[in-house]
Amino acid sequence: MQALSPIIWHAVESGKIVTALQTDEQAGLSSSEVSERQKQHGPNELPEDKHKPLWRVFASQFASPLIYILFVAAVISFAMGHASDAVVILIVVLINALIGAVQEGRAEHSMMALRKLSALKVRIVRDGKESVIEARELVPGDILLLGAGDQVGADARLLEAAALEATEAELTGESLPVVKSTELVPDDAGLGDRRNMIYSGTHLTAGRGRAVVVATGLQTEVGKIASMTTSAEQPKTPLEVRLKQFGNWLVVASIVLFVLLLGFGLMRGIPFVTIFMVSISQMVSMVPEGLPVAMTIALAVGMQRMARRGAIVRRLAAVETLGSTSIICSDKTGTLTKNEMTVTRLILPDGRQVEATGAGYSPEGRLHASGQDLSAKDDAALRSLLEAITLCNDANLVAPEGEETRWRPLGDPTEAALLTVAHKGSVEPGTLLQHWPRHAEIPFDSAEKMMATQHGHGGRHRILFKGAPEKLLTLCDPATLDLDQVQQTAEELATQALRVLAVAEIHDVPLDVEAGFEPWRGRLSFLGLLGQMDPPREEVKAAVAECLEAGIRPVMVTGDHKATGLAIATELGIARPGDIAVDSAELEAMSEGELRGSLDRISVFARVHPAQKLRIVKAFQSQKQVVAMTGDGVNDAPALAAADVGVAMGITGTEVAKGAAKIVITDDNFATIVKAIEEGRLVYQNLKKVVLFLFATSIDEVAILLLALLCGYPLPLAAVQILWINIVTEGAVTVNLIMEGLEGDEMRRQPTPKNEQLITGAMLQRLVLMVSTAVVAVFGFFLWRQASGAPFALVQTETFTLVAVTQWFNVLNCRSALKSSISFDILRNRWLVGGLILGNALHILVIYNASMNRIFHTVPIPLADVALLGLIGSSVLWIEEIRKWRARRRLDQGAGSA
Ligand code: ATP
Repeated sequence: MQALSPIIWHAVESGKIVTALQTDEQAGLSSSEVSERQKQHGPNELPEDKHKPLWRVFASQFASPLIYILFVAAVISFAMGHASDAVVILIVVLINALIGAVQEGRAEHSMMALRKLSALKVRIVRDGKESVIEARELVPGDILLLGAGDQVGADARLLEAAALEATEAELTGESLPVVKSTELVPDDAGLGDRRNMIYSGTHLTAGRGRAVVVATGLQTEVGKIASMTTSAEQPKTPLEVRLKQFGNWLVVASIVLFVLLLGFGLMRGIPFVTIFMVSISQMVSMVPEGLPVAMTIALAVGMQRMARRGAIVRRLAAVETLGSTSIICSDKTGTLTKNEMTVTRLILPDGRQVEATGAGYSPEGRLHASGQDLSAKDDAALRSLLEAITLCNDANLVAPEGEETRWRPLGDPTEAALLTVAHKGSVEPGTLLQHWPRHAEIPFDSAEKMMATQHGHGGRHRILFKGAPEKLLTLCDPATLDLDQVQQTAEELATQALRVLAVAEIHDVPLDVEAGFEPWRGRLSFLGLLGQMDPPREEVKAAVAECLEAGIRPVMVTGDHKATGLAIATELGIARPGDIAVDSAELEAMSEGELRGSLDRISVFARVHPAQKLRIVKAFQSQKQVVAMTGDGVNDAPALAAADVGVAMGITGTEVAKGAAKIVITDDNFATIVKAIEEGRLVYQNLKKVVLFLFATSIDEVAILLLALLCGYPLPLAAVQILWINIVTEGAVTVNLIMEGLEGDEMRRQPTPKNEQLITGAMLQRLVLMVSTAVVAVFGFFLWRQASGAPFALVQTETFTLVAVTQWFNVLNCRSALKSSISFDILRNRWLVGGLILGNALHILVIYNASMNRIFHTVPIPLADVALLGLIGSSVLWIEEIRKWRARRRLDQGAGSA
């Protein structure tokens, strides 16, 4: 390819650009040329945000008040001649930083993987064939096919533009859409005025078009603005904020306890350094340093699990909000149904009802009426209808290739199905399109629910219209149809769960694209109706039942007819007996109060205008519901952004919708949203397990120390031992509680209230039980051992070990609120098993290694005592097992009597 730099893309005829870029406007580049150019230009991407180097991740672990306190403590103990304590503190700080860095690395790693999943896809033509590729593979000379809602993948010059509009706020700051056209622009025009260009990173908001890529990667306009590449930080999620508040509260509590311990200790005559170190260690152990990391990992792991199940999270907050979702407003087509359209019925203007046989997009099948086969060749009315739906159509059918056995739709399935039925009636699109090329069009949009195309041949014009019957029939000349009759037939088709389209035409008048549909009112000739079947997805019925059990109400929000929607909603179990469907006109007529009053009974919103979706979301939110709303189009963006969880469709969704949504589901399937909710609930549950564990373990140590001081005993734990337990023993397991898998009953509970306290009443009861058992066991043991006359160093080491053992059993307790920890399959959480093994190994080292003994003031424990410690420590497990057993029994009895 020759050097292209001197060309000013917006000021040169498109034909010249196509030649200069050595491409073909219709067929695009050849595959061999593409690989050549990819080598030359590199991938079409901007350099990624710099990866935080490992040493910085590690260094950042030291930037916390907890660590500052520890450093101060180390300095003080060193100054007072306790060098070994100072060393321990430093070791502990180091281990803490290591654990923190590894965890953060893990979180970062999963985030990166997820970012890759949401790669931008674009529609192009290469080797004469349409296909969808990742935008990073684009090269100059590629031919782009553009539609409303697309994000532009590279800088390109327009070759065709039909009512095409783009928002370029990202580049020009102008937030209103600009109309695009193919006309030449003066060469000194600014970015915002180059109407015949589209730029990477901007969005198309309306229309359709075709363009040739002129710049990729760093050569694009956005590539030139380096600052745009740094991605925005994710804001803190509500739960993160609550956790932070909880953490702050604990810090205050720990300072109070610090003062108390120090005061009591000094009053009891304990040397200042000893009591000061113990109090500091205790204060440090109260600070839940594991919590923020646990939170990040919980969200990251939740995101990963969701991605594996088909839901890609774009905003972290969605992970937790999903768990509280109580209403899912779902699109119908493609989400609840398969979006595999088959035209099964055609109604001709003379009232004849034509049946179409065959299924899927394969053009095999026949058309028949009253037992007689029909063909466009010898039936003029049928021919006009089939020709109209073939011409007024942007889709394509792809014949099976290679391994494939089925015909595939390319473009809108609703339109592809029209091509299939036209084939069945012997209308062949290729020759027809050659004969009647398209000259102008008003593209389909889901607000108008209609489209029109103008075709010309030998000085004659044909304007063809198709769209929703209520809309299109009002444009028809009453003389060409029996309006009541046709409307009634359309209604009947809809009641049979069919999607209905009306078709009309007018000859030899030009189409004024700007004027829209209004000028045609009462002027068109009616050509017929079509009924399309779109079977529900198989897995949706079960997913709907699961939602209902989980206290979540699914609601259908469809662009389709009320009767079609209600028929399908009833079949799927979304509409219960007595429920109603409301269409856009009825919705419009309702006051806010009326709408809110009827929300409980409305299970289908039909013919919904995208702007009304926002009203529906707000109405549900005003009833304190947490709303998930699906969407795919440009106009859905405000509703997606306003919903608690905006869900965009991965396949049919526009980039604009994806940008506004909090999650994207890769298979457009309703069942996937339900799976994501299940994972969201798990994340929240696991976090609560961590909070419970951290809280329980901090309180029992404080209680033991305070008890010993109040009762006049020596301190049961040395300062370094307290630090070790809190940072090493706990650090090795806490975060791994987050990795707990599904317990299986997540979807049998009600959604978590939006602002639920972190520590609920039920958790508090468990906490009291766990703490009191541990305190009785440990303090009781300490008293008994003291009385037995054993050397104090051994008593302290054994008490220290017992505290560690009770924590290991407690972590098992925290894995489930109901299920037994003994039968529950712990091997499923390999992270936790690994953490427990690591904790045990380190503890053995501290007890049996001579140098460690010196540093940690420990002595080796006789093996017989180890067994005893294990037995006593396990009491926390047995007591909690009894509580769980009783709780399960109560639940069963409750279920039995219900
Ligand atoms: P849902 O919201 O349930 O997914 P939808 O998004 O498929 O429904 P729209 O695409 O807005 O809803 O379609 C609404 C109506 O517009 C259809 O019932 C049909 O009558 C008409 N329609 C759909 N597609 C086309 C098209 N390509 N050309 C003309 N009319 C169409």
